[in-house]
Amino acid sequence: MTIVGIDDTDSRERGMCTTFVAAEIADHLRKRCSSIVSRILLVRLNPAVEYKTRGNAALAIHTDCDPELAFAIARERLEDLAETADDRTNPGLVVADLDPDERETPTDVDRFAHSAIRDHLEIADAVALLERHEYRSWHAGDGRGRIGALAAIGAWEVLEEWTYEYISYRETDRWGTPREVERESVFAAADWGYPDVWDTVDRGEGETVCVPHTPGPILHGIRGDDPEAVQSVAERTESEPVAESQLFVTNQGTDGHLQSGGIGTVEDGRAYQLEGRIATEPETRRGGHVFLGLDAPTADGAPRRLTCAAFEPTKRFRDHVRSLRIGDRITACGEVSDGTLKLEKIAVRDLVRTERVTPTCPDCGRTMESAGRTQGYRCRDCGTSRNEKADQRLERDLEPGWYEVPPCARRHISKPLVRGGFDAPTHPER
Ligand code: ATP
Repeated sequence: MTIVGIDDTDSRERGMCTTFVAAEIADHLRKRCSSIVSRILLVRLNPAVEYKTRGNAALAIHTDCDPELAFAIARERLEDLAETADDRTNPGLVVADLDPDERETPTDVDRFAHSAIRDHLEIADAVALLERHEYRSWHAGDGRGRIGALAAIGAWEVLEEWTYEYISYRETDRWGTPREVERESVFAAADWGYPDVWDTVDRGEGETVCVPHTPGPILHGIRGDDPEAVQSVAERTESEPVAESQLFVTNQGTDGHLQSGGIGTVEDGRAYQLEGRIATEPETRRGGHVFLGLDAPTADGAPRRLTCAAFEPTKRFRDHVRSLRIGDRITACGEVSDGTLKLEKIAVRDLVRTERVTPTCPDCGRTMESAGRTQGYRCRDCGTSRNEKADQRLERDLEPGWYEVPPCARRHISKPLVRGGFDAPTHPER
């Protein structure tokens, strides 16, 4: 058996898409060498990596084709399709003579794949492993694509949770032109497929999330937990002609990028799941971005503060974040960048239910006045007094449980709440 890993073929301005290149290679393997392609993996790597074009995707093709032949075909298709005119496109190809279902992947390649999803790697790290295991490889430009290509090879063994995306591609002469997709049919198909099929549309924003806006070859990509359901939703969608379609097995929607951590140990360019208490009132700044401070004790016992942000594109999620109050205990998930955690989802663990207010007079019901520094409060008219502030019940708009950004703001790798498996009640967005 053979695994073909590829990455970094596309350009932001010029289009193309690594999933399309993988589908093309698979097609050539089937047609030219009668090979069986058992699956194509679409692996989302660390979304914080600065070199990414969009979603930091790498691809792996699992096939029974002879590795030498698979390498020749993949290289030819990459040389033909990769947008190497863009000097930020640095394609990489790695071919390994491995049976993906026999747990044959070397441990250091597994570790490399794990790190590529959560951490930052160097080209030299990939080259060292390629040499150690004598994998066939090819690259153009600086060859950074070999990082993703090698990670895609290790992904099948190292990851346990998989979902599906059924991608339909446009006819070549339509690339770069507006997509013709019948909106109502997308919403109807999304309703039909939910909850096995998710993030097809954003009902709150009225957006067809499955249809990209970029100039590449994708017409739509339908995501979900069930391979047949994603295909059915794609087939229920009315549109311009579909040139070809391909099912991908993927780590999208799994939260594979999140690592558990403490506020004192977070690093930029990684994503975390952290516990803390709200330390500053949520503040809406220019542009509609909402910021708050989250405190948690560190190993040495001293509290540390991390700024968390719900940016404008997270839309209605910001209302939940604005409803938080000082003292609430939450779990926060998201990527840390420039020392700020960009919220992808939160779990409300414990809500402050009372607030300290100036007491009211038990006789006349009016608010008491301060009787002077450290003198407590008193009612001028009735002469009643209280030593300290009173507790007043707070009405809260939030309930305990998980809240998430809406589908229009979802990162490819983030797990939608509708998928289940969370440790508290969920409030899924549709
Ligand atoms: P698209 O989503 O349009 O397919 P992309 O967002 O996947 O594009 P690429 O063009 O593949 O972006 O660029 C990402 C580059 O970063 C690749 O060269 C890949 O090998 C490299 N890379 C991926 N993960 C890491 C990592 N963890 N550390 C360092 N480099 C990485």
